[in-house]
Amino acid sequence: MAELTRVESAARINLRWIVRLRWGAVAGQVIAILLARHLVRAPLPVPSLLAVCAALALANAGVHIWLQRGGRPTDRACALNLLADIAALTALLALSGGRENPFSLLYLVHITIGAVILPARWSIALALASIVAFSALQMLAAHDLSLEAEEPLLALRGRWIAFVVAAAFISTFSLRMSESLRKRGEELDRARSDAEAAERLAALGTLAAGTAHELNTPLGTIQVLAGELAAQLDGDRRGEAEEIRRQIQRCKEIISNMLAPRGGADVEEPKEFEVAPVLEAAVRRWQEGRPGPQPLVSVDPAAARARTRLPVRAFEQAIANLLDNAAEATEGRPARDVRVSLQRVRDELRLTVVDNGVGVPEPLLRRIGEPFFTTKEPGHGTGLGLYLARHVVEREGGEMRVDSAEGRGTSVTLTMPEA
Ligand code: ADP
Ligand code: MG
Repeated sequence: MAELTRVESAARINLRWIVRLRWGAVAGQVIAILLARHLVRAPLPVPSLLAVCAALALANAGVHIWLQRGGRPTDRACALNLLADIAALTALLALSGGRENPFSLLYLVHITIGAVILPARWSIALALASIVAFSALQMLAAHDLSLEAEEPLLALRGRWIAFVVAAAFISTFSLRMSESLRKRGEELDRARSDAEAAERLAALGTLAAGTAHELNTPLGTIQVLAGELAAQLDGDRRGEAEEIRRQIQRCKEIISNMLAPRGGADVEEPKEFEVAPVLEAAVRRWQEGRPGPQPLVSVDPAAARARTRLPVRAFEQAIANLLDNAAEATEGRPARDVRVSLQRVRDELRLTVVDNGVGVPEPLLRRIGEPFFTTKEPGHGTGLGLYLARHVVEREGGEMRVDSAEGRGTSVTLTMPEA
């Protein structure tokens, strides 16, 4: 479920956009005020106008900081923000020509934004507020905003600029908004499939624990019988029976580790370690007693001493999983080549395993790393190797990336934050 909290609420996305747009609006207003001084004959109350802009900027900075600190806005907060914008616009218009000011067109921006992002009752409230403000302006004695020269032309130009600004705001906002919402939809999908995956894994864990528990009884019996057998035998035979008893003991230990509440890879505590030596040792251990390609390990000098924080046993297992896959993918191909590299990019470490094996067909690429997804024969693949590798790094804020070209090879990269 932790995954779901990663998804931003729609109201938060909206408010972030309102804040961004408002920065643009404040800048535009200041520029307009400074330019208008040269266009209109009547003296504009520039200090008061700038004071309104400053108040708006200050309020915006407040909202921005609140959002940065993890504030959780509701629709109401978005509506109140838009209402504040309407109030500020009204103040600016009242100070600069009232109904004569072509920028009264900008009420449309707020009405549109409200309509796109808010539930009906709030959008209606915003539209009503705009209408009330606009009507009040109409009643206000028109400020003498007569233009310096060529009056009709300049008035036309003013209206044209106002229109372009309104159109630009509306289209930018709705485009960005739909993009944010689409991304959020994708994130939700991913969170959902991760949650399903975690459920399947939990089910597997329960199954494994049940099986382990069941196995304990027959193993205990075999162990006792092997002990009795050993007592009745002598020489080599006795040694063999003893060996059976020892191996059974080992099986029981493995099982009790599985059943122990803190025994599995999933609950191993992360710890900080130097990556390069752990990587080299893991590759060496994987190679022991195994024919096939020698993986070539290269460590970027910048990464030689780099440290990270992960459950280290699970990390070693992840490396072995990637090497298993690379070895299986290159099996039977001429000039088998498997390379492992460790790089440091900014404050991230990248561990990449590249092979020149069979690769993954494009349509399957998306599913790689899902639990239980395997293309191998039953009994050969569990479909858990990449899932577990991904799980190890993602738990600590890293990620896994798979690139592949069918018939040419595959590269799997584990990215982990540097400690
Ligand atoms: P398994 O190896 O048990 O099938 P994995 O999670 O390790 O499970 O891998 C899942 C699937 O991803 C494999 O069945 C295979 O189709 C594909 N795959 C993984 N690594 C490679 C690789 N290096 N080259 C080609 N295919 C790969
Ligand atoms: Mg595998």
